[in-house]
Amino acid sequence: MSSAELYINLANICSNWNALNRLSNGSAGAVVKANAYGLGIKEVGISLAKAGARDFFVAVAEEGMQLRQALGQGPKIYVFSGHMTGDTPLIKNFDLIPLINSAEQLLFHVENSSNQMIGIQLDTGMNRLGMECAEYEALKDIITQLNPELIMSHLACADETSNPMNERQLNYFNEITNNINCRKSLAATGGILLGKQYHFDMTRPGIGLYGGKPYSSSKNVVKLKLPVIQIRTVLAGETVGYSNTWTAKKTTKVATLNSGYADGIFRCMSNKAMLYYNEIPCSIIGRISMDLIGVDVSNCKEDPDSLWLLNDKQEIDDLAYDANSIGYEILTALGNRYNRIYI
Ligand SMILES: *Cc1c(COP(=O)(O)O)cnc(C)c1O
Repeated sequence: MSSAELYINLANICSNWNALNRLSNGSAGAVVKANAYGLGIKEVGISLAKAGARDFFVAVAEEGMQLRQALGQGPKIYVFSGHMTGDTPLIKNFDLIPLINSAEQLLFHVENSSNQMIGIQLDTGMNRLGMECAEYEALKDIITQLNPELIMSHLACADETSNPMNERQLNYFNEITNNINCRKSLAATGGILLGKQYHFDMTRPGIGLYGGKPYSSSKNVVKLKLPVIQIRTVLAGETVGYSNTWTAKKTTKVATLNSGYADGIFRCMSNKAMLYYNEIPCSIIGRISMDLIGVDVSNCKEDPDSLWLLNDKQEIDDLAYDANSIGYEILTALGNRYNRIYI
């Protein structure tokens, strides 16, 4: 058995959701797009529903279908990309709520499945997804008649607490949605931490559920253990890996581990990131290959049979730092070859 083991702590995901739900003025939904940030939409969805989550968010209708099949009827499932051509059967059969992003989508929805609930996504300045204010004003009567389940927008700079963009978007959102009687949502994880005025009726945490920044009090969710396949002694002057990017300065014990960039261990972490043997940090040496990495285990008392890339000492954001990236990217890149173990 040489495949790496990815431990996913569902109890900690639920505990993070509970904490963010308590922090929220209204209730917290749960964002489970991209296979629940790579951790398994089915397992994560079922656990969160048991913990009390009633509103789920996915990126596309196909993810909504998978989630509905796991959850059964009851919880609401919102689709960020709205109602696209080809989505109609999924929206109807799996009872999804498209978050309508444009006049075209609204028209398409009314023509194809007008008795299916909708939400509205507004663009309040990020210029990524959602109706422009003028478009919304022009359609307001129709939208009001359709009695939307939710009206939402998304903050562009919520992880920077003092960025004036946050307040600009907040004021804009308040202004536009002032006289519509429906549930409202503006805050993702970062927005929850900005304060109650950002919460409205529902918050939409994603990364905070999975142990990532900016929610620094989250519980760690993932641990990743990589098996050692071989250990050798490399003498001073010898090199390790493709292109000889690492040269031994002294006799070094090198372990070869069975994972690489095909598993989400980014090549730019070569000669940078650490793995752990109990408390002992061990450096990645040489280039990361597709399926293999070399690690200096000279400091370990005995020959390790596995090392940890993610654990309570090195969480997703610590590792992301070595890749000039963010915890979100580390999680969503976690490879399909890992043996996923839910605890
Ligand atoms: C991804 C996403 C979220 C969740 O964001 P986090 O930063 O992971 O909490 C919420 N709302 C929208 C529109 C998103 O795209």
